[in-house]
Amino acid sequence: MTVPSPTDSAPRPALNRLDAPTPGPAAPRDLCTDCGISRSDDPKRCGRACQFIRPDYPALERAVHGRERDPERGDEAFFGPYRAMHRARMRTPRDGAQWTGITTSLAESLLRAGTVDAVLTVAPAEDDPWRPVPVLVTRPEDMATVRGMRMGYAPLLALLEPARAKGYRRLAVVGIPCQVYALRALEAELGFERLYVIGTPCSDNTTTANFHDFLALLSDAPETVTYLEFRADYHVELRFEGGERRLIPFLQLPISDLPPDFFPLTCRTCVDYTNSLADITVGYMGGEGEQWVLVRNARGAEMLAGLGDGIALSAPGSAGRRAKAVAGFIANTERAAGGLPLRRMPDWLRPIVGWLMPRTGPRGLEFARTRVEMKAAETIIHLRRAEPRRMKSMIPAHVWRLARPYGLAPREGETGRDDQ
Ligand SMILES: Cc1cc2nc3c(=O)[nH]c(=O)nc-3n(C[C@H](O)[C@H](O)[C@H](O)COP(=O)(O)OP(=O)(O)OC[C@H]3O[C@@H](n4cnc5c(N)ncnc54)[C@H](O)[C@@H]3O)c2cc1C
Ligand code: SF4
Ligand code: SF4
Repeated sequence: MTVPSPTDSAPRPALNRLDAPTPGPAAPRDLCTDCGISRSDDPKRCGRACQFIRPDYPALERAVHGRERDPERGDEAFFGPYRAMHRARMRTPRDGAQWTGITTSLAESLLRAGTVDAVLTVAPAEDDPWRPVPVLVTRPEDMATVRGMRMGYAPLLALLEPARAKGYRRLAVVGIPCQVYALRALEAELGFERLYVIGTPCSDNTTTANFHDFLALLSDAPETVTYLEFRADYHVELRFEGGERRLIPFLQLPISDLPPDFFPLTCRTCVDYTNSLADITVGYMGGEGEQWVLVRNARGAEMLAGLGDGIALSAPGSAGRRAKAVAGFIANTERAAGGLPLRRMPDWLRPIVGWLMPRTGPRGLEFARTRVEMKAAETIIHLRRAEPRRMKSMIPAHVWRLARPYGLAPREGETGRDDQ
């Protein structure tokens, strides 16, 4: 399907205008998304910083938000601690942003107000706009350079030491969950006066090289694709140089043409879809076509207030029922035995179901709950198959709680904690 193009192809300033010190080499690590800690002065810190080794979400939630998630409170069982949740959009969408640019506007506003000295985030590489490169941004207008989503891993946290060496004391960090976990685990020893953490949800990331292979399956001219998003209306949106825009229903994606290991085990077993340790999470999953913002603590509220009337907020909606969709996904994932979960369905039926899904499937918050439960189930199924010995230390109680209604409960030796 082709639809008219929005104005999204703003020219981006060159990377060399930004402060992008080259990180040192990565230490070899198993189950690693190269968040940057292994490249720092003390790579041994991975042992206590890594989401994939022995995460302790309850302790970090207490340290960051003053309390742990409370499964009885609103949707915290799914999304982690929050004090307010909104459907949201920038009244003037930012050119080049992934959605309307709330994420980069929050950081820009912190720089403009002088609240922080710098923003640590990722920019597009000069030789490949899809490859993320860590940068330190100090001028508010340069946040335009980093708008939009890139696919792949960037050693973001390798720039914490250079940031400190430059004398930055108050830092904002924009990060995905595995980066934010390591940042929070080490926060007390990093020596910053203040950290402002803006998180986005993240799922199904892969290497930039794999992502290029995926683009080549979607388009005859993959080098002209400037934007891709998995939308909450069950479509992938592609935008192209020159302004064309195309929507592809999820069910018609060429998933069966991808190699079984297209998504690394890290991203299939990641335990914090919604970035629960950020001060504020900005995504789209619960936004029904707009963005979705979770204000998690006072610092998150302070950042949101900084946008004033520039951001439009409303109550998130919710519709549909997730249980069948999640159970079906679990069955497909188990049947795929490590490959990609394909839905069994004749080709002629796919367009019909693809048309029905946005109208009858889970929407708004129910869509977000669906995705979070699917991800929890995936973590358990893939670790059980590929790394059973890691389950005990890697799977937090909140993941078991989400998967339990679908018959996925810990077996002997899979949990080391009393509360599961
Ligand atoms: C790999 C990936 C998967 C995602 N999956 C989901 C999802 O399933 N559900 C959901 O609700 N949201 C997801 N998001 C977040 C979503 O794509 C948007 O980034 C978010 O909604 C913010 O939109 P915005 O317009 O406010 O962002 P913008 O204002 O355009 O800012 C985007 C920010 O994200 C940073 N960024 C871009 N790529 C990366 C990267 N690879 N690693 C780290 N930082 C990056 C940019 O540097 C920039 O600071 C994902 C993001 C990524 C990177
Ligand atoms: S993801 Fe980060 S903390 Fe974990 S092993 Fe890799 S570099 Fe270390
Ligand atoms: S899916 Fe999880 S592990 Fe993979 S990049 Fe995103 S946050 Fe990191």
